[in-house]
Amino acid sequence: MNWHLLPLSEIASLLNTTPLGLDQTTASHLLTKHGKNQIEDSKKKTILQMILSQLSDFMILILITAAIISGIIGDITDTVIILAIVVINAFVGLIQEYRAEKAMEALKNMAANHALILREGKKFNIPASDLVTGDVVILEAGNIIPADVRFFETHQIKADESALTGESNNVEKISEELSRGDYQLGDRSNMGYKGTSITSGRGLAYVVATGMKTELGKIAKMLQTDEITTPLQKRLGAFGKRLSLGILIICTIIFFIGWLRGESVMTMLITSISLAVAAIPEALPALVTIALAFGAKKLAKNNALIRKLPAVETLGSVTYICSDKTGTLTLNKMTVQEIFETVDTEINSLFLENNPLLHAIALNNDVSEGQNGKWIGDSTEVALVQYAFEKNSNRADLESKFPRIAELPFDSKRKCMTTIHQTQNSDAEILVITKGAVDVLFDKLSANQKSHIAEFEHKVNEMAEKGYRVLGYAIKTIPFLPENLDADAIEMDLTLIGFAGMIDPPREEARQAVTECKEAGIIPVMITGDHKLTAKAIAEKLGIISTDEDLVMTGSELSRLTQIEFINTVEKVKVYARVNPEQKLRIINALQSKKHFVAMTGDGVNDAPALKNADIGIAMGINGTEVSKEASHMILLDDNFATIVVAVKHGRKIFDNILKFIKYIMTGNSGEIWAIFLAPFFALPIPLLAIHILWINLVTDGLPGLALASEPSESNIMKRPPRNPQENIFSNGMAVHILWVGFLMGVVTIAMQAYAIHVANSHWQTMAFTVLCLSQLGHVMVIRSQQSIFKIGLFTNKPMLSSLLITVALQFMIIYTPFFNKIFKTQPLTIYELLLTLAVSSIVFWACEMEKWIKNRNKQTTIVI
Ligand code: ATP
Repeated sequence: MNWHLLPLSEIASLLNTTPLGLDQTTASHLLTKHGKNQIEDSKKKTILQMILSQLSDFMILILITAAIISGIIGDITDTVIILAIVVINAFVGLIQEYRAEKAMEALKNMAANHALILREGKKFNIPASDLVTGDVVILEAGNIIPADVRFFETHQIKADESALTGESNNVEKISEELSRGDYQLGDRSNMGYKGTSITSGRGLAYVVATGMKTELGKIAKMLQTDEITTPLQKRLGAFGKRLSLGILIICTIIFFIGWLRGESVMTMLITSISLAVAAIPEALPALVTIALAFGAKKLAKNNALIRKLPAVETLGSVTYICSDKTGTLTLNKMTVQEIFETVDTEINSLFLENNPLLHAIALNNDVSEGQNGKWIGDSTEVALVQYAFEKNSNRADLESKFPRIAELPFDSKRKCMTTIHQTQNSDAEILVITKGAVDVLFDKLSANQKSHIAEFEHKVNEMAEKGYRVLGYAIKTIPFLPENLDADAIEMDLTLIGFAGMIDPPREEARQAVTECKEAGIIPVMITGDHKLTAKAIAEKLGIISTDEDLVMTGSELSRLTQIEFINTVEKVKVYARVNPEQKLRIINALQSKKHFVAMTGDGVNDAPALKNADIGIAMGINGTEVSKEASHMILLDDNFATIVVAVKHGRKIFDNILKFIKYIMTGNSGEIWAIFLAPFFALPIPLLAIHILWINLVTDGLPGLALASEPSESNIMKRPPRNPQENIFSNGMAVHILWVGFLMGVVTIAMQAYAIHVANSHWQTMAFTVLCLSQLGHVMVIRSQQSIFKIGLFTNKPMLSSLLITVALQFMIIYTPFFNKIFKTQPLTIYELLLTLAVSSIVFWACEMEKWIKNRNKQTTIVI
C-alpha cells in the first residue's frame, strides 16, 4: 500500500481509526487476528537441531562407532552402557543449552521496547509488540519507531533512517501527503519505519504495518544479528583446540603402550577414546555461556539488565565508572528552593503586569497533568510547574490567553528550550519564551542586558555553590512567526526575567557506592550538563571529589584542549560540567588510551555513540530513551548509580566462579589422564575401565562443577583491584595448579591401586575408581574459595552440598548394588576398604588446603613488608 501518497482522511478510514486512536476492543481483536508486532528470529534452533548438535561432536561420533564395533565383536553390555552414558551426557547438555536459551530469551523480553500510544484519546504505554495497525503512536526524540507509521502531526521531527537506508543524514518528517511519483523508502518523508529512530522533535502517527509486514520485517533475514561470543569464550575456544591436539597425542601414546603391553586392541581403543572424550573440554565455551546467562538473570533481579552477554564477563574489569549526575547520582526529585526576578522590565507590555517569571514558568514546559492530579514530565520542568502552581499561577487560563503556536524543543546540546505564543496584543503579536542553562542564556541576551551579566552571575554562583540547578527565563516579542524556525535567530536579543534555583538531593546509597568503588580500585567520575559549581557541590557531597587534586573540567575547557593535552590530564578530572553528550566520546577515548576499562552511562539520543564505544555502555531504564537503551550493553532498571557498583560486584563474582569451574574441570581431567598415563610406568594394569572414565566425566565433573556457580562472593571481592581484561586466565598459578593437583590425583589413584594389588585385594579397581572420584569431590570443596574452607564454612553453598551428597550416593549406588556391580564391573567394598579409600582420597583435599595456606601467608607477608 502506498500510504505516503494518500490523504490523511483516507488513511484514517482505511485503517478504521481516528487521531484519538483505536478503542481497546478493536485493538485486542486486531492483535489476535494479525499477531504480535515482532520480527521472527529465523536463527533459533529447534529442539531436534539442539540434540543433533550435541551428538555431532567428532570425538563422540568416534566413540559411538568404536563402541558399536566392540559390541559386535565382543561385549554387548559395555556398548550399551557407553551409549547410554553418551546419550545421558547429550541430554544433560541439551537441557543446559535449552535453559540458557530460555534465560537469554527472558532477558531479551525484559529489554523489549515500549510505545506510547493513544487509545480513545487516552495515553497508554504498551509493549511495542502489542501494537496493531490503526494505533496512534506518540513519537519524540530518542524513540525507536516501533512499527511502520504514517505521520499526521509533526513538530520539527527528524528521523535517523540509516539502519534501513544506509543514509546517515537525519530526515525531516512532514504530515502532508506526497504528490504522485515513485519514491524510495528514504524519500517517503511522511512515513516512519520500524527500527529507525527519532533524533529530534515530536509527532503523532498512525501505525500502518506491524511485525513481519514492516519494511524491516521484509529484510529481517538479512539483519539477523550474529551470536555474540565473549572474549573468554573466544580464548577458551582457541585454547581448547590446542589442548585437544595435546590430549589426542597423549591418548594415542596410551593406546600404543597398552597394546604393546598385551591389552586387546578394542579395549585400548575404547579406553583411549573415552579418555579423550572425557578430557577434552569441548563443552567449556557452552558452559561459560550458561554461567553468563544465569549470571545475567541474577543481575536482572538486582536491577541491572544485560543486553549483551559479554558485559557480564567484562563488568569485573571496569576501572572507571563515568556517570551522569541527574537521576543516577541524584534522586531526580527536584524542588524549587529559590527564585530571583530581574527588575529590568523593558518589555513589560504583555503579561508582565505581575509575576512575569511565574507566568513564563507556567507556559514554557511540556508537563501534562496525569490522572491523579500529578504532573507528568521531565523532573526539572515538573519542579518548576509545581512551584508556579503553588504560587497560584493559573496555567489553563494562561494557556488560553497565550496559546502555543510553535516551539524549539529542549536539546541537551543547546541546553535550552523555547516556546512561541500568540498574544492578544496588537503591537507585538508573538511572544517568545526561552528557558535554559543560565550561562547559555547570557549569550543570548540583548546588548543592553548584557551589561548586567556580572550582577546576574554573582547571584547564580551563590545558588550553584549550594548545589542548586539554576535555570533562567528570558523573553522577547516578534511581529510574526517566521516560516522556518531557526534556533539561533529566534533565541537571540532576549530579555532575562529571572531564574529559579532547585535542588536535586544526592542519593544516599550513591555516597556509599562511591566509597565502595574507590576501595575496589574503580574511579567514579561525574558527567553533567549542569553548572560547574552545582556539579562540584554535589560531587563533594558524594565523595567523588575528595582532595584538592581532583579537578572539575567544563565542556568548553575540554574543547580547548588537544587530545594529547587532554590525555595527560584525564586521570585527574573527577567531574565534567556543562559537557555535551558528544564530548563523552572524547572522555572515553582519552581514558581508553590510558588503558582504562570504561563504563559510561547515558540516557539521551546523543549518548548513543558514547554508549556504543564505552567498554560497558549503561542506559537508564526509567528515564532513558530507547535509542540509548538500544546502544547500551546494560540497562539500569532503577537508574541508580549504586546498582552499577552492585553489578560490578556480581560481575566479579560470576567471573571468579567461572574460573573456579574451569580450574575444577581441567584439574579433574588432568587427574584422569595422569592416572591412566602413569600406570604402565609402574607396571600396573590400566586402573580404570572406559565406563568408569565416562562416569566420572558425567557425574563427578558435572554436578559439583555446576554448583560452583552458586558460590557466594569472596570476602575481599570489592577490596581488590579490577581484573586486567587482557590477562591470561591460566596465569596466576592456574595452569600450575591444574598440572600438579591433577598429578597428585593420578598418583594417589595408582598408589591405591598398587597397594591393593600388592596385598592381593581383588577390589583394587573399584578402590582406585572411588579414590579418583572422591579426590575430585575433595578438590571441589577446596576450590570454592581462596580462603580455607574451614574459614568460609562447609555449609555456605547449599547447592554444592546437595550435589556432593547426590554424587556420593550415586557412587555408592554403583559400588553397592548388584545390578550396577555387573554393569560397571565394580565390587562392594568392605568398611575397611571404604575407609582406606576415603583416607587416601582426602590427601588431595589437604594438599590443596596447604597450598592456599602458603599462598595466603605469603600475601600477608608481602603486605606487612
Ligand atoms: P545530567 O547531565 O547531570 O544527567 P541532565 O541530563 O539534566 O543532567 P541535560 O539534560 O544535558 O543534563 O541538561 C543540561 C542543562 O540544560 C541543565 O543543566 C539545565 O540548565 C538545562 N535544562 C535541563 N532541562 C531543561 C529543560 N527542560 N528546559 C530548558 N533547559 C533545561
